[in-house]
Amino acid sequence: MILNLKGRHIIVCEVIAIIILSSLIVKNHIDYEASTYASMYDTKKNFIKWVSFDVSSKALECAYKYDVESQNQEIKLNWIELLAVLACRYGGDFSHFKEKHMAELVEKLRSGKETIASISEGLKYYDYYLEAYTAVLGGMVGKYQIEVPDPAAPGGKRWEERYGLKAFFPIAKNYPYSHFDDFGDSRSYGFKRKHLGHDMMGQVGTPIIAVESGYVEALGWNQYGGWRIGIRSFDKKRYYYYAHLRKNFPYNKDLKVGSIVQAGDVIGYLGRTGYSRSENSNNINTAHLHFGIQLIFDESQKESVNEIWIDCYNLVKFLSRNRVETVKNNETKEYRRVYNFIDPVAQHFINHSKYRYDDYDIEIHIYE
Ligand SMILES: [Zn+2]
Repeated sequence: MILNLKGRHIIVCEVIAIIILSSLIVKNHIDYEASTYASMYDTKKNFIKWVSFDVSSKALECAYKYDVESQNQEIKLNWIELLAVLACRYGGDFSHFKEKHMAELVEKLRSGKETIASISEGLKYYDYYLEAYTAVLGGMVGKYQIEVPDPAAPGGKRWEERYGLKAFFPIAKNYPYSHFDDFGDSRSYGFKRKHLGHDMMGQVGTPIIAVESGYVEALGWNQYGGWRIGIRSFDKKRYYYYAHLRKNFPYNKDLKVGSIVQAGDVIGYLGRTGYSRSENSNNINTAHLHFGIQLIFDESQKESVNEIWIDCYNLVKFLSRNRVETVKNNETKEYRRVYNFIDPVAQHFINHSKYRYDDYDIEIHIYE
């Protein structure tokens, strides 16, 4: 069929329109890419400057289960890698999470036809999510030793070597608590701001547990947090903040700045101090633990307007499977864990009596 002049003219116009439109789409896409990267990384792209941790507790559980199961299989799975692949699919928003998505991914890996490297090759944001999620979860799963009841000697204990979750729930076992996702809620003491942590309501005096091993970086009074403890993970990526601790007897008396704590140690006691410039004031109405996790990719972020605090609600829910049983020492009035625990990462630091902390050496106080 021969097109008449008018017909050809229409086709030429359509082709031009398509070219213009598609170049606009490509340009918009490039702009979108650039702005997405600008929101993720600092200007020189040296470090991550923003993380929104929106992994659901269900996704955490699912990935964790595959990781642990795979440890005695030939193909080992890493829960953080599984989560990072799915984060690319969901744009980081795990409200889209379905167990079958992870099952399909695991199936591909187990079949040996694909590897994490081959799957992630085509995923633009994989490296970002892997680094961001490793900063959150990197110290929580691995090998550890723990005391367990000895069936051969009733009332006795024996050591066991295990692989699995070595991070603990922040409130001791058998103590009641309540919580909800309050990250980002508005707060007005001092100035109007957002709540950058997770509140867990409970009884005054409830033993507070170190979620992960690390060293005490801050300890004392803070106008907002009251009596508070700040513990840094050994890889320096996480700063754990435990605040509003008990009046008069806020923390384990052996703790000092520089003390090493093992995950699951009793570090302090729930209270309602804070919201005052004068030390030891009980100005919080409802007794609770304020628990926060700050991510640090570069030391310039530690105390700045660029601090990255994450929503810990889902993580805390996930950790509720791992609660620490405690016992009171009637002489000292301190509580301690019933079953001792050795985190090889903490052990490494204990074996070195001094380590570099920022620009100066600090002495380590071994805390037991
Ligand atoms: Zn709070």
